[in-house]
Amino acid sequence: MARKLTDVPSDSSLSPVPDDPKVEAPTPAKAAPKGKKRKTEALSSEEETEEKVTKKKTRPRKKKQQEAAAPLAERSTGTKLIAGAHVSTAGGVHNAVANLIYIGGNAFAFFFKNQRKWINPELDPEFARLFIAGCKEHGIDVAKCCLPHGSYLVNLAHPDPVRKKQAYDSFLDDLTRCHTLGIKLYNFHPGNANATTRNEGVSTIAENINKAHRDPASGDVIAVLETMASQGNTIGGTFRDIADIIALVNDKSRIGVCLDTCHVFAAGYDLRTPEAYAASMAEFDKVIGLEYLKALHINDSKAPLDSKRDLHARIGTGFLGLRSFHNIVNDERLHGLPMVLETPTDGLDENGKKTEDKSIWAREIKLLESLVGMDVESEEFRTLERDLAKEGTEERDRLAEQVERKKKKDAKAKAKDAKGKKGKKKVETEDEEDEEDEE
Ligand SMILES: [Zn+2]
Repeated sequence: MARKLTDVPSDSSLSPVPDDPKVEAPTPAKAAPKGKKRKTEALSSEEETEEKVTKKKTRPRKKKQQEAAAPLAERSTGTKLIAGAHVSTAGGVHNAVANLIYIGGNAFAFFFKNQRKWINPELDPEFARLFIAGCKEHGIDVAKCCLPHGSYLVNLAHPDPVRKKQAYDSFLDDLTRCHTLGIKLYNFHPGNANATTRNEGVSTIAENINKAHRDPASGDVIAVLETMASQGNTIGGTFRDIADIIALVNDKSRIGVCLDTCHVFAAGYDLRTPEAYAASMAEFDKVIGLEYLKALHINDSKAPLDSKRDLHARIGTGFLGLRSFHNIVNDERLHGLPMVLETPTDGLDENGKKTEDKSIWAREIKLLESLVGMDVESEEFRTLERDLAKEGTEERDRLAEQVERKKKKDAKAKAKDAKGKKGKKKVETEDEEDEEDEE
């Protein structure tokens, strides 16, 4: 069964991080209002760590967490990639910097506030000061490598005036925070057409972006549209959706795209072979324009190509496989863009209890960096590719079977129930049928 939104814990990246002494006790989300739970939004709970740790087949961890005061890995210098991960801001936005250093990353994303709740605690000026000072201290060029992530609740396509204002206010508030902190890129899910048509949704999104651009509080922050997995009525699952929004944005210098590797793959864009990768990128360039590509979310996919399922997997363990990431990191056009991991970090401790294992990100960052220039025929690459693929076998099999089953079910339901019950209702039904949550 899918978890209902009410069951979804506040984001794992906002929860305390026991193995990281730099992270203070979490403050967020206590005063969150109940009610207003929109089920369909549970579909895009991407950065959340998977609730169920289904198999004991987690990658063997190097060491236990207790000794984790020092960074898990040193940040690489002089690498062509700017690779990192979506880190926690528990205890304040400044902690994102410490959390980035801890995993040895050079790019980072985070939520400004709980991404599932409509609460907007003010940005603490002291935390802002510490954030800026921390970046300076560690030589982090925040304008180039930082890509905060918008709330899942914000739907800039919503036609209802009250909902529209709520979404816009949150959007503008986030852009304002970026501006305050010297951040230039702000990533968000474009929206969904659950309450409107696709075309109206597209123009409402653009209208909101234009309005935010006109507000001086947003500075010169670039609004970065994330490519989506095409679930239900999501807008942004096709390059055409993204291009249509951009076409309606007046200030083209302040609009961009974040390519999520898992999402585009789930939406049907293949990245696995050099040829398929080249074709998908050529399509991106033709339809959207590569000049708009500002960042990437680097995730493998637990679900197969064109499955419309948004389920992030660890690098090399999913249906994309290591070769896809080799294609990506060796594409010189992408060097210099922030590449942010949103891969699951769930592991098990020695008692078999669920735990968060940040060393996964530290390792994946180094893995991505090491793939630059690596010969795919080499023993090193083949071993890595084989071992990682093996690690994900069970999950891939399970999801492939699930996707297949759902396809059949959908086809049956469609045949049986040709009239009525389409649109919104259908999305909810699909979600309920999934045995596991989307990410
Ligand atoms: Zn993403």
